This record gives sequence, structure tokens and C-alpha cells, in this order.
Amino acid sequence: MTDIPKSHPRYASLVARERVANGVKKGFTSNQGLIAQGRGECFDYLLGERTTASAAAATQAAAALLLMAERPVLSVNGNVAALVPEEMVALAALLGAPLEVNLFHRSEERVKLIARLLREQGAEKVLGENPDATVPGLDHARALATRGGIYDADVVLIPLEDGDRCEALVAMGKKVIAIDLNPLSRTARKATVSIVDNILRAVPNLTEQTRLLSKETRADLEKMVMEYDNQKALAGSVQEIWDHLDRQFRVG
Ligand code: ATP
Repeated sequence: MTDIPKSHPRYASLVARERVANGVKKGFTSNQGLIAQGRGECFDYLLGERTTASAAAATQAAAALLLMAERPVLSVNGNVAALVPEEMVALAALLGAPLEVNLFHRSEERVKLIARLLREQGAEKVLGENPDATVPGLDHARALATRGGIYDADVVLIPLEDGDRCEALVAMGKKVIAIDLNPLSRTARKATVSIVDNILRAVPNLTEQTRLLSKETRADLEKMVMEYDNQKALAGSVQEIWDHLDRQFRVG
């Protein structure tokens, strides 16, 4: 990887770019993944590259949902594998949940590479190599899912997912947690809980919240989910962008 000096003002963002580019070089991230990262970066810039109050509230609701789930599953695509493989494995271990490789531009080769990467990071249960079911309402390649995994899950975490698949999973009656820096995306608007934050910050925060909330009663967890309003949280994220820009212009 290119040697990026820690003192560089855009250090975190440059490291993320390197990781995604490295994922493409190694064959587990698609070329389109580079463009998706660019779109994410743009929104992160507008948000001030920080975890906002709305994102923190969504993270708390997401942790409560995951803790109450009977069959939680964490979905992994090429960008997720490039950016936070270790962190996704840690969250899966904490929840005792499987990881499922779930690709928009599916190739058997890429699925295998990502599954191997996750296992190398210590993942106990990795699905996706042998899909045996389809999600209704999607075309064949994008519909593939695994029984005992995403297909049967009651709560699914889908970082950096596309809107159609998010909507199709919600239509199956699942609670869907998205991680997506774009508060205007169809994914963010269709999900049950949308964490509008960079996946680099969101996954460690979600793991930390899950650990903290594991001591709460079920009634308290239910209350947290009941009180969470996704549309309000998304409107909050948009407001946080305005506020950040307003501060920038005032200072500038
Ligand atoms: P939708 O169908 O939901 O409208 P889209 O077409 O805008 O989605 P995709 O290209 O399918 O988006 O998926 C990429 C999404 O992931 C984008 O919304 C982008 O903002 C988000 N994203 C990219 N990189 C990151 C990241 N590092 N952290 C969080 N979100 C990210």
C-alpha cells in the first residue's frame, strides 16, 4: 500500500481509499466499489467526517435491535471486506451471528476470496458460497441468499447496500439496519434503522453500543427501538449537514 504520512490532513480518507483500491487489486472489491466509496466520501465531507448525534441515536437503536434478534445476520460485500473485515468479524463474534457474503456484482471467485478473508480474520460462520434460496422481487443473481443466513434472518445488517435489495428484505418482514453515508439514498430511506456514518466509525461504534446495551433488560431495549424514528433521524442528518456547512462558511 502507498505510504501515507499520518500528518496528512486527509489521512483517514486516504487510508480508506487505499484499502478499497487494494481490495480491487486483490480481486475482492469490484471496480464499481471505487465509485461507491467516492460517493460515500462526498457525504462524509459534507457531514464533517464525524459521528453526528443522529448517527449515534441510530447506532443505539441498531444495537438494541441486534440484541433482541433471534437470528441476526451481518451482510458483507466487497467494500465492507476492504474497509472493516476485522471489525465485522468482531461484531459477529459478539452477537454469535453468521456473516454472509452478499454481492451486487456477484462472481463466485469474489465470493470465495471474501469468505476466505473473513475466515482468516477468525470468523466462525461465513455463508454465501452456496446460496440455496432467493429473495423475492429481485433478479436472479442479486436475489441469491442462504437459508440459515440472510434468507431466514429476522434482523439483517446491510452496510453499503443498494436500495432495491434493502427494500426487498424489508418486504420479507425483516428488520433491516443500513450503514450508509448518504441520508438521501433509497437504502437509507427504506431501512428500519439507518446509520448515516462512515463504516470505519460505524462498525466499531455499533460493537461498543452492543456491548454496553447487553446489560439492559429486554423491556428497555424495546423502548429504545420504539422511540427511534428513522425518518426523523434522516432529517436530523440532513440538518447536521446544513449546520456543518453553515459553521464552515461562518469561520471561512
Ligand atoms: P441507493 O440504491 O440506496 O440509492 P446508491 O445507488 O446511491 O444507493 P450504491 O452505489 O448502491 O448507492 O451504494 C453505495 C452507498 O454506500 C452510497 O449511498 C454511499 O454513500 C455509501 N457508502 C460508500 N462508502 C461508504 C463508507 N465508507 N461508509 C458508509 N457509507 C458508504
